[in-house]
Amino acid sequence: MTTSPDADVVVIGAGFAGIAAARELGRQGHRVVVLEARDRIGGRTWTEARLGRDLELGGTWVHWIQPHVWAELTRYGLGVVPSPTPVNGYWITDGQRHQGTAQELLELIDRGMAASTLEALTYFPRPYEPLLLGEQLQELDRTSIRQKLEQAGLSASEFDAVEGMWATNFNGPTDVGGYAQALRWCALAGGSWQLMFEACATYKIVGGTRRLIEAMLADSGAELRLGAEVTAVAQDADSATLTLTDGTTLTAAAVVVTLPLNVLDSITFDPPLSDTKRRAAQQGQTSRGTKVWARLRGEYEPFVALAPGSAPLTLCQVEYVEDGTTVVVAFGADSGRLDGTDRAAVEQALRAWLPDVEVLDVACHDWVADPFSGETWPMLRAGQLTGALAELQRPEGRVLLAGADYASGWAGFIDGAIESGLRVSRNAHALLTADVHAPDAEPALPALTGA
Ligand SMILES: Cc1cc2nc3c(=O)[nH]c(=O)nc-3n(C[C@H](O)[C@H](O)[C@H](O)COP(=O)(O)OP(=O)(O)OC[C@H]3O[C@@H](n4cnc5c(N)ncnc54)[C@H](O)[C@@H]3O)c2cc1C
Repeated sequence: MTTSPDADVVVIGAGFAGIAAARELGRQGHRVVVLEARDRIGGRTWTEARLGRDLELGGTWVHWIQPHVWAELTRYGLGVVPSPTPVNGYWITDGQRHQGTAQELLELIDRGMAASTLEALTYFPRPYEPLLLGEQLQELDRTSIRQKLEQAGLSASEFDAVEGMWATNFNGPTDVGGYAQALRWCALAGGSWQLMFEACATYKIVGGTRRLIEAMLADSGAELRLGAEVTAVAQDADSATLTLTDGTTLTAAAVVVTLPLNVLDSITFDPPLSDTKRRAAQQGQTSRGTKVWARLRGEYEPFVALAPGSAPLTLCQVEYVEDGTTVVVAFGADSGRLDGTDRAAVEQALRAWLPDVEVLDVACHDWVADPFSGETWPMLRAGQLTGALAELQRPEGRVLLAGADYASGWAGFIDGAIESGLRVSRNAHALLTADVHAPDAEPALPALTGA
């Protein structure tokens, strides 16, 4: 006699992918349990009271060209508020500090940004089908964004500035980040690097990302268990069994796994995930950087600052000016180079741009050292688009991967997490309602290479 499982679906992880999937499946009448290792929902988005105000320690900016997150804002009646428009610009190129207007800095990067995104619509004419051009993509995907910049005939100053932009975009080393990933990203912005930049760093959700994910969770009917870290998932013809760190087990007909790629192998799967999935997880993706908040003494006119990828901080911009102080947000491509919780170290890093700056306080979460993320925002390495993405999206029996790391469109963003959660919920629903056990549900992308 077969006993019915504890849940129809268990979702591992309460980030945007997990909550989007839970909401869809809950609204379709399935019994959904969400297991979250942390003591909060949101995953790599985290609206927290720091420096005397609510700050986003993880994902922040959204845009109307990101269709999935925008639909959610519409659905829950949430608005956006812009970050200040930069007036001044500071940049480090050729080992020298420069100061001018934000417009001059944009002009400095224009040629290199245009050259490195020129082929976006050629290779990704329909960006939600990133493998549409099939084998033509394979050679392109071997190239890193740095190699592409080296071929672009830029002056030394242009190179340093544009390399700093891409180190910021990848939040990691430019000799690892895939050129195809850069193109794919720009194609989502219609091939315009300026719109791509606007989409990534301009509009914040009123009330924070927390407000959106709380609205989605409230709409799901799912049971949420916090502090529930899953260590193993085993599946057979009848069901899947999940084991938690405290030894408890739970059975389900389907399991949606939303772990970031860099920590995917922290769960033992039985049978194991395919070789391609495991290889991609062991290799990890590009991002290994940091996001740092700092409160500065004095009221600064809004500025944007840029430095090459080798600097501890590659980009900084003003977010709030209040009570004789300025709150800035900054990014660096290697979390190992700067302890973002060390006030003096952050002050020293910011002095590369602002020699007299005085940092009053700092806030930062180390996502790379965090055992439940191991990375910041997911950006594929050279080779991973054609070598791994289709296979990462392919369900294995009752186990389905969802998350920004595995998205077709805005992979690396809140939008991609929601997109992936929606697709996987459709596959899970098909699995739950099919009259056969554990079929491989509809793959989103054709594979270019074997698993
Ligand atoms: C610093 C930073 C800045 C960013 N900036 C932006 C931005 O401005 N705009 C934007 O759109 N995106 C941004 N992103 C990216 C965006 O935040 C992520 O792409 C998105 O939130 C990922 O959602 P997810 O559900 O795929 O993964 P996650 O949010 O990582 O969710 C996975 C969940 O699984 C949980 N988990 C892990 N292991 C286990 C386990 N064993 N058992 C149970 N639970 C487990 C984790 O705790 C987590 O809650 C940023 C990210 C970072 C880190």
